[in-house]
Amino acid sequence: MTHKLLLLAGDGIGPEIMAEVKALIDWMNAEGIGSFECEDGLVGGAAYDAEGVAVSDATMDKALASDAVLFGAVGGPKWDGVPYEVRPEAGLLRLRKDLGLFANLRPAICYPALADASSLKRDVVEGLDVLIVRELTGGVYFGEPKEIKDLGNGQKRAIDTQIYDTYEIERIVRVACDLARTRQKRVTSMEKRNVMKSGLLWNEVATRIAGEYPDITLDHVLADAGGMQLVRWPKQFDVIVTDNLFGDMLSDVAAMLTGSLGMLPSASLGAPDQATGRRKAMYEPVHGSAPDIAGTEVANPIAMFASFGMALRYSFGMISEADKLDQAIADVLDEGLRTRDILPRGGGNGLTEVGTKGMGQAIRERF
Ligand code: ATP
Ligand code: MG
Repeated sequence: MTHKLLLLAGDGIGPEIMAEVKALIDWMNAEGIGSFECEDGLVGGAAYDAEGVAVSDATMDKALASDAVLFGAVGGPKWDGVPYEVRPEAGLLRLRKDLGLFANLRPAICYPALADASSLKRDVVEGLDVLIVRELTGGVYFGEPKEIKDLGNGQKRAIDTQIYDTYEIERIVRVACDLARTRQKRVTSMEKRNVMKSGLLWNEVATRIAGEYPDITLDHVLADAGGMQLVRWPKQFDVIVTDNLFGDMLSDVAAMLTGSLGMLPSASLGAPDQATGRRKAMYEPVHGSAPDIAGTEVANPIAMFASFGMALRYSFGMISEADKLDQAIADVLDEGLRTRDILPRGGGNGLTEVGTKGMGQAIRERF
């Protein structure tokens, strides 16, 4: 089966790290390891400069027709003054919205070679592999009414509204359970049913949906206690499923446990296609466009490689290739290769600094 990939490299270091992954895809095609049909598109500042929009209708059509979108990063000081509707980040938001990407997957993986970069003790984080599944299109960030009212007497009232419908909870919990099947088969649902109606419904729906998965164990943890447990002993978790707000915070906490934000991939998934069962999907590094180092050959391409690894795993069903890629990343780190961002200050014993291309080539060689 041929997999259609849309490559949206974007701005800053986006094109540099995307080029390293593209070289891997080309090599896999040449070796007959999967069959990928790649198209390039513009997004963010690059699209604004060329087409006057953050993402064009033509690029959107390509994204809709693809099996997966690989996204680099967007933005930078160059576009600080552009109109709000066409600012680089608007491209990312339109992609998410028009592709219906309601599930945000943020793995927190701690490679043994980097365990000392965490602010927690090595034994707490070494080998950590937890996946946070965050609801991305509902909840308090979008619920109406959302306003600041003037009460007249020098007082104002700010209103945000948390709304969740049954179907929104059903589909995100299904994503979590489907993913858990490919992992340790444990899902932890986090909400605050003790103080929120949406938490009560979330809890009830999660229990019912998980019941459709007899091989999956579901636990319920209050989100505040969950945050505490995530920092105390994160390895107790496999898949965490939670709402937009709690997921926003918990996934950033989980990312920092690994100590290397610049290494982490993410995925956003939509509903399964009626005909093929495939979910719309976009894969991207957690980090941004890093304009401060763009063009200097020091960007770490690992988050971009790991994002492609998630596409292999979750969009293309190429599990052994995904495992191989993750192993290749672990291997280069074990061998002491480091881009500048993951090199301890003052260097380190047996560590070798490499640039973007050097790291990319090393990963491809070990794949
Ligand atoms: P955004 O708003 O898009 O998230 P940001 O300004 O918050 O962007 P980044 O663009 O991720 O954050 O950059 C934060 C810091 O991390 C910068 O100093 C940048 O150079 C560094 N950084 C980010 N990604 C990488 C990478 N892949 N390799 C090396 N350094 C990186
Ligand atoms: Mg940021």
